[in-house]
Amino acid sequence: MKEALQPPAPAIVQNETKRVQELFDKNVVPSYSRFDLVLERGEGSYVWDVDGKRYLDLAGGIAVCSLGHAHPEITKALTEQSKKLIHVSNLYYTKPQGQLAERIVEHIAPGRVFFCNSGAEANEGLFKFARKFGYAAGRYEIITTTDSFHGRTLAGIAATGQEKVKKGFAPEVTGFGQVPFNDLEAMRRAITKTTAAILIEPVQGESGVTIAKPEYLIGLRRLCDEHNLLLLFDEVQAGHFRTGKFQSWLRVLENEKVGLLPDAVSMAKSLGGGFPIGAFWIRERFANVLGPGTHASTFGGTPLACAVALKIFDVIEKEDLADNARQTGEFILGGLQELQQRFPNVIKGVRGFGFMIGIEFQAQFKAVDVVKELHKRHLLSVPAGTSVIRLLPALNLSRGEAQDGLRIIESLVADLAKKQ
Ligand SMILES: *Cc1c(COP(=O)(O)O)cnc(C)c1O
Repeated sequence: MKEALQPPAPAIVQNETKRVQELFDKNVVPSYSRFDLVLERGEGSYVWDVDGKRYLDLAGGIAVCSLGHAHPEITKALTEQSKKLIHVSNLYYTKPQGQLAERIVEHIAPGRVFFCNSGAEANEGLFKFARKFGYAAGRYEIITTTDSFHGRTLAGIAATGQEKVKKGFAPEVTGFGQVPFNDLEAMRRAITKTTAAILIEPVQGESGVTIAKPEYLIGLRRLCDEHNLLLLFDEVQAGHFRTGKFQSWLRVLENEKVGLLPDAVSMAKSLGGGFPIGAFWIRERFANVLGPGTHASTFGGTPLACAVALKIFDVIEKEDLADNARQTGEFILGGLQELQQRFPNVIKGVRGFGFMIGIEFQAQFKAVDVVKELHKRHLLSVPAGTSVIRLLPALNLSRGEAQDGLRIIESLVADLAKKQ
């Protein structure tokens, strides 16, 4: 990339980075550890910092920017809808919300959709759905898995199978317990007479891209049927065509003779392409569990958010971006596998589906340091776990951009190998 050879930015612009960081230091809750980048604008799969330096964005806003940055169709949907109606509350009907719900139902199966604003909130809806479902029978427990991630609300961190998100926030919301992922027997043993539901990510994201085995998903469905439990899927990160199918469980099971239907699915991230929106779908059989007055969200399903999400569906379908995620994702994965074979002392393994790719480095390379090194080479990626970096690019990433990304990663890996 030519930009790498640009002369250093004049001092006055470098001060801009410092000034923004100072604003944060003084005024923003320091709950995030941020990288030293102040980003200002984007176009497609590129972003620019305040110094005018360009980066190839394979982080995709953590699986959010499904059409990349500044997509003209999103801008158009935003501006046109904002001139008509931004918000009226859920006291009334609006067309975009009905249409978006229909779109999601068409892609999964008959059922009902509730709209909210984030992944954590979508999962909170699943928890309330499970509690309401089990209430009359005194059942409330939701079994989840270790290394899962389900959001940062109090119930979300109780559901999440990672100590680091729970620490300091005791007492925990009751009714959640974890068992190892991909271990059907452990799940079977954990079921008690108070269990109401099982919740998993069919592809675990935050802990480093771990894919469920097809027989695990099928076994969970069977367990739930045997014990009258709800099977809940958190598709917040892996969903919305990222794996090459609408939701990741469909990709996991694509070569199986029979599919399965979960009882509810949470969504967010890529659904709005950067405009905040979350949703959960509930199977038709349970359509009335959350009746009038049981659940609500002021901002949930505004005409503006739904118009944007509808446009994203349109573009993904018109341009067959699910197929692009699958093909270009496979191309990246293939390139990374080659790299792994050439440099096994640096890369321990690579895995993924479509545009959800994890590169596991050998333990001496910390994910955060690798991500920082890639910043120096003008590439954005996302750390996961301790030694995994994730690539979660826009669904319209081109083959050429994927090649650029691979070249950058290769140059870093080759350098790290030399230092061994
Ligand atoms: C990101 C994520 C969440 C939380 O979503 P927020 O929008 O940050 O609340 C929940 N589950 C999974 C699998 C996620 O990746």
